[in-house]
Amino acid sequence: MPQYQWDIEADLVIAGFGAAGAAAAITAAKTGAKVLLVEKQERERHTPNIRMSGGLVMTFNDADKAETYLARCAGPMVGNAEIRALAERLTTLRAWLDAHCGGTPFTLVNGAEHPEFEGAEACEVFQQGVPRFKQDPQAGNGASLFASLRETVEAGSTEILWGAPARKLLRDADGRICGILAGKPGQEQHIRAREGVILTTGGFEYDEAAKLSYLRAYPMYFYGNPGNTGDGLRMAQEVGADLWHMPQIVGRAVGHFQLDDGSWQTFFIAIDPPGYVILDGDGKRFANEHDQAMNKHDFYYHLVHFDTQRGIHPRMPCYWIFDEKRRLKAPATLINVGACSVGLYEWSADNSKEIERGWIAKGDTPAAAAKAAGLDAAEAVTESIRTYNEACATGIDPFGRPVESLVPIDTGPFYCVKLWPGGPNTTGGPRRNAQGKVLDVRGEPIPGLFSAGELGQVSGMMYPADGANLGEALCYGQIAAEAALSRFRSV
Ligand SMILES: Cc1cc2nc3c(=O)[nH]c(=O)nc-3n(C[C@H](O)[C@H](O)[C@H](O)COP(=O)(O)OP(=O)(O)OC[C@H]3O[C@@H](n4cnc5c(N)ncnc54)[C@H](O)[C@@H]3O)c2cc1C
Repeated sequence: MPQYQWDIEADLVIAGFGAAGAAAAITAAKTGAKVLLVEKQERERHTPNIRMSGGLVMTFNDADKAETYLARCAGPMVGNAEIRALAERLTTLRAWLDAHCGGTPFTLVNGAEHPEFEGAEACEVFQQGVPRFKQDPQAGNGASLFASLRETVEAGSTEILWGAPARKLLRDADGRICGILAGKPGQEQHIRAREGVILTTGGFEYDEAAKLSYLRAYPMYFYGNPGNTGDGLRMAQEVGADLWHMPQIVGRAVGHFQLDDGSWQTFFIAIDPPGYVILDGDGKRFANEHDQAMNKHDFYYHLVHFDTQRGIHPRMPCYWIFDEKRRLKAPATLINVGACSVGLYEWSADNSKEIERGWIAKGDTPAAAAKAAGLDAAEAVTESIRTYNEACATGIDPFGRPVESLVPIDTGPFYCVKLWPGGPNTTGGPRRNAQGKVLDVRGEPIPGLFSAGELGQVSGMMYPADGANLGEALCYGQIAAEAALSRFRSV
């Protein structure tokens, strides 16, 4: 039997202080258990995805309708029991938010992303503070939502170890997870977890090897927390966890640019307001760009198309073209999510700084702008813009764009930005059951191991609504903590 010298002892250890970790900690603290949260980043440089997010949270007002709708969106990728547990919890999430997020009211801002699917009418998306996150720096976002959750966690009895990456799950002689090794190299501590460990370390957005192995295409870039490097995935694999829906991401076209120090930063790309097309490597349009403009979450499916005749991904990269009118209307990113919301970059209001940097290429004609961005297909680009402008005049677009989005690209200079598939987060990871227990390759729970959040979240083919990631993370964080501490007083 392994004999560990314990440096710290707790009833429950939660690895990762983001959305799921916060929900788990708040729930666990109410049981009277001794709870320890280990977070890889230092407190003052802590940028979990929830903090970089828009702070939109999906809830439902009817569990049966939620189950029907979520199952339709997920397809066969997650089980009915896991969806049912989520559906039920989502109907209580609104009250939970009111109780644990500092009292600033939440406002209803949206509904389901697929209103045509059965059950969609019961979906309600909320945001705390000033609603909508578009380009209003005062609007509520993930930074303010996380600040209120963090305050609740810190006001409770949970102990937090900052700057202490979880590195390895520890097992007893029976194979039960009994602790975790955490800390910077050379300063690791053996932490005992009497009732179990919940992995809430986020996805594998910054694990290049995992992305290459598991995602539909490579490269894909993500605009969230650089600390989400798939650590929980590796730790769970090491103790025999099964994996599920590994190729799934929440995705769209993103920008990926080099900074002055040589490092790279990925950005949310906001092509709205209208006056845009996206072209492939041959200079042709290929999809209804309005979905990208409306920040829909499945646009990346168009981008990862593989041309088997030529053996290439013709839409990786792809090219967003717009004109001077659009340039002056709004930044090409959303300034209150992602890198800009946590002080990693300040995007200029008129995009001039990014033109100077060469992230936004400029030209006297659309073809010249495209060429400057790396798309050397003058004839095709010119023809694509001509036919697009014609569609704007007739109001009939071959890709089905709504008429209000058909604004011509006709006022020089013109601009082009190279885009890639990517998004906020991956959703694959260790398979979990309806109690948040991590399952092994035979479908049996690994004793003492739980997970929540985007590390193998309960979602599948299609993203249900704005706020579905946070909805899932906040619900399964609660569910996993309750299951792990079922021997303690009821929460
Ligand atoms: C720009 C942007 C906008 C978004 N907008 C929305 C939105 O409006 N609504 C929505 O629902 N979703 C949104 N999302 C996605 C959502 O924020 C995430 O899916 C959600 O935060 C996932 O919660 P989580 O707890 O699993 O991960 P996170 O919130 O990322 O937390 C994971 C934590 O684990 C830590 N960690 C990683 N490895 C270790 C380790 N080895 N040891 C200890 N700690 C570790 C990380 O540092 C991090 O603090 C957005 C994401 C981004 C990037």
